[in-house]
Amino acid sequence: MVLKEGTDLDSIAYFNEKFIPLREANINIMTHAFQYGTGVFEGIKGYWNASEKQMYLFKMKEHYIRLLNSCKLLRLEPTKSVDELCKITIELMQKNNPTCDMYIRPNIYKAGLVIGPVLLNNEGRKNPTALSIYTIPMGDYVDTAKGLHVCVSNWIRVDDNAIPARGKIQGSYVNTALAKTDALLNGFDDAIVLTQDGHVSEGSAMNLFIVRDGKLVTTPVNENILEGITRATVMELAKNEFNLDTEIRKIDRTELYVCDEVFFCGTAAQVSPITMVDHRSVGNGKIGPISKKLQDLYFEVVRGHKKEYRNWCASVFNK
Ligand code: PMP
Repeated sequence: MVLKEGTDLDSIAYFNEKFIPLREANINIMTHAFQYGTGVFEGIKGYWNASEKQMYLFKMKEHYIRLLNSCKLLRLEPTKSVDELCKITIELMQKNNPTCDMYIRPNIYKAGLVIGPVLLNNEGRKNPTALSIYTIPMGDYVDTAKGLHVCVSNWIRVDDNAIPARGKIQGSYVNTALAKTDALLNGFDDAIVLTQDGHVSEGSAMNLFIVRDGKLVTTPVNENILEGITRATVMELAKNEFNLDTEIRKIDRTELYVCDEVFFCGTAAQVSPITMVDHRSVGNGKIGPISKKLQDLYFEVVRGHKKEYRNWCASVFNK
C-alpha cells in the first residue's frame, strides 16, 4: 500500500500489542492520559531514498532512549526495551510500505480508566502503561527554504519544576500550542520561547542556534529545552565537517537581534533558517552561509547519502 499525504485511516498502527488499522486504534474517553496529559511521546522521521528504494529512520534508537527517559519522569512503566521498540517500528513501517517521507509517532501513556491525577504505580492494574505507534506521511513541517520570520513569544517555556521540558510530555505541548498559535495569528511563521528569567529557551517545538562572529551558539540543557536529537546532530556535523565548535551558554533575547544567523532545528523542523525576529532582519536578512551549509549537509545525511553517517539511519527494508 502506498500512503498519500495526510491521515490515512487504513494505514496500520501498533496498538494494544497488535498491528491493526489506524481506524480501529481508538481509546476510551476515560483514559487517564486523555484526561490529564499523562503520557510521553516521540517524533521520528523516516526519509525515503528513491534511488535505493529504501526508507531510513533517522536516529531511531536515540528517540527511543529519550522516550524511556521521559517515562521515568512520569513513572510510566514501559514493557518494551529500546531494541524491541525499534523492531516494532521497523515492522510497522514494512507493513505500511510507504514511498515518501514519513513521521512516526510513538506514545507511552497511562491507559487506566480512572479519575485522579496521580502517577502512582501500586494501582498499576487499574492504571496500566500502554504503547501506541502510528505513522503519517510528512514533508516539511516548517518552510525550510524561504527563511522564517519568527517572534519572541510572550508565553514562557514550562519550567523544569513545573512540567519538565526535558521530557516529551503530552500535556506540556499545551505550552507549545499557545506560543505557536499566537505566533501564527500574529502573522509569524513560528515562535521562540523564553525561560522564566527571560533568556532564550528554544523554539515552539524545536531547538535554536545562533551564529555570532562565526561561532555557533546554542542554549544549555538546563534552560528548559527538550534535549534535542537534531541539536546533538548539528553540533557533531558542525565539528566534524566544518571544524566549528558550538558554544553552549545562555542566549539573551536581544542577541537574536544583533547576531549574524539564527536557525531552528528538530526532527520535524529539520534545519530551518530564520531571517527575521520580531520584525528585525537577522544579519543581512538573507539565509546565512553557516545555516545553509549545515542544512544542506543535514538533508544529505538523513536521506542516507553520506556513507560515514549511515549508522544514524536505520533501514526499513531488507535487501
Ligand atoms: N524542543 C521541543 C519542545 C520539541 O518538541 C522538539 C521536537 N521533538 C525539539 C525541541 C527538537 O528535538 P528533536 O531534534 O529531538 O526532534
